Amino acid sequence: MESIRFHVRKNDIVKVIAGKEKGKSGKILKVLPKKNRVLVEKVNFIKRHSRPTGRTRQGGIIQKEAPIHVSNVLLLCPKCNQGVRTGMRELENGKKNLVCKKCGELIERT
Ligand SMILES: [Zn+2]
Repeated sequence: MESIRFHVRKNDIVKVIAGKEKGKSGKILKVLPKKNRVLVEKVNFIKRHSRPTGRTRQGGIIQKEAPIHVSNVLLLCPKCNQGVRTGMRELENGKKNLVCKKCGELIERT
């Protein structure tokens, strides 16, 4: 199985750089590789009408995040406070870490 590599992954803090949610930032809740989309916390809320079913007795309107295209988000650099391009840098201990291409700050991932 070949896994598609994105520039972002789950739990990353990202900034939306395009689309109607531009300017918002949040944590990635889920990555959907097959759809090239990511689900970002509190971004791209959609209203959905839910019908009462056997499982959920209550119907009504629920708000839920909808996935957005992965190309619309960039990792948020805490120092630049904006979405930035990132690169990898080898540290002295041999480990590789993400760095902000703009300011050179290491970006820690959780
Ligand atoms: Zn930066």
